[in-house]
Amino acid sequence: MSDNFSKLGLSDKVTQAVTNAGYTIPTDIQAQAIPLVLGKQDVIGIAQTGTGKTASFVLPMLTLLEKGRARARMPRTLILEPTRELAAQVHENFEKYGINHKLNVALLIGGVSFVDQNKILDRGADVLIATPGRLLDHFERGRLLLTGVEILVIDEADRMLDMGFIPDIERICTLLPPRRQTLFFSATMPDEIRKLTTRFLKNPIEVETAKQNLTASTIEQKLLKTGAKPAQKREALREQLNIAANLTNAIIFCNRKRDVATLTRSLIRHKFNAGALHGDMDQKSRMQTLSDFKNDKIKLLIASDVAARGLDIPNVSHVFNFDIPTHPEDYVHRIGRTGRAGRSGHSITLIAPADIKHLEAIEKLIDKKIEWIKGNEKKEVTAQSNVKPPKEVGFKGNKPEDRQKNKSTTKASNIEKTIEQSTQKNHDVNHNTNHNAFGNFGPTPAFLLRSSK
Ligand code: AMP
Repeated sequence: MSDNFSKLGLSDKVTQAVTNAGYTIPTDIQAQAIPLVLGKQDVIGIAQTGTGKTASFVLPMLTLLEKGRARARMPRTLILEPTRELAAQVHENFEKYGINHKLNVALLIGGVSFVDQNKILDRGADVLIATPGRLLDHFERGRLLLTGVEILVIDEADRMLDMGFIPDIERICTLLPPRRQTLFFSATMPDEIRKLTTRFLKNPIEVETAKQNLTASTIEQKLLKTGAKPAQKREALREQLNIAANLTNAIIFCNRKRDVATLTRSLIRHKFNAGALHGDMDQKSRMQTLSDFKNDKIKLLIASDVAARGLDIPNVSHVFNFDIPTHPEDYVHRIGRTGRAGRSGHSITLIAPADIKHLEAIEKLIDKKIEWIKGNEKKEVTAQSNVKPPKEVGFKGNKPEDRQKNKSTTKASNIEKTIEQSTQKNHDVNHNTNHNAFGNFGPTPAFLLRSSK
């Protein structure tokens, strides 16, 4: 029933694989880009993850690759991705849509042994998917020749810019044959990115998804007022995890890697079934955690932006912003991890007094007011927004003079700490119950807890 896909000019093998995958109607970016790619045209696609962008280049590439063969160490096509996870996801797409092809697809990402990667390259790769750094490492070791590349895909170009990869990409482009087809995807088109397209693409045709879709209408977005101290935020989060309706699993975002680790430890101490995903972890642990989350072995994934960007996990019921993102676009990417492919999703963003300015920037970007969970508490939070957030007891940088000034807060923090400790004790006795300063807020749903062996 993939009539609509076959009308785009894709081969029978590809349309059959698309039918197997259960897709019948091409998305906007697919309908626009696929015929152009098949016509060997350079393309600029302005589209975000979640729009079906990956298949918009994978499907026509598979069709084009049906003609010709790979030669040892000379890949025929090259896809550059900013993160290892995105690269792995594109690899999965080739496996899914390439079931009727016998293509050799190589994934070159950091954290994986060079020996295994070399073996695949030696066999001759039809498709090489790589992060820029690892690709250049292989090139410099003389394991790779890029002069046979017929198609280059630069994916998530704006993210490459944010992550400082543009010099690497410029270098890689000088190693490729000038006669090639280039496909360039980016969610946004800042000037630096626009300039790149004029250098690396020839007479490109630009396609854009109908609307720079900001936040999907399938996501119910909420704000939750919290205190500024990490312990207060952790408590507010635990309460939501216990009471949020329809919660089956969640990705919880922190702004800093260090906080990802702290929050994960805290949730595990409170017996939640949680795992961390951040850029400092080795690749094996990152892939393992992701696969455990996808397979429901972990219910709560605590993540940083880089690690979670673009992740395509179909069934995420909730996204929590433990920290409000400081770049408003990150809010859009984060909450886009839920409510995917037409499903409904929920996002809850914790707002401490100092977060109001970031909230305003987000509301301006998405052109929408986000609702507060318990009525409109913005006024109350705004009133406190000039108050410097108190620091956690014993936290680095807590100067004696601050401590004097914040005597009452420090006292509150101590109470908080005691509460945390007593909560811990309670858990040791009955780890199905979560408590807070105001009493018991009910049992944690059993499926969110780690099984006690
Ligand atoms: P992407 O934007 O490439 O990250 O894709 C987002 C999600 O949409 C993935 O789960 C895809 O499998 C799914 N998808 C891709 N193409 C289609 C389609 N034509 N119809 C429905 N879902 C699709």
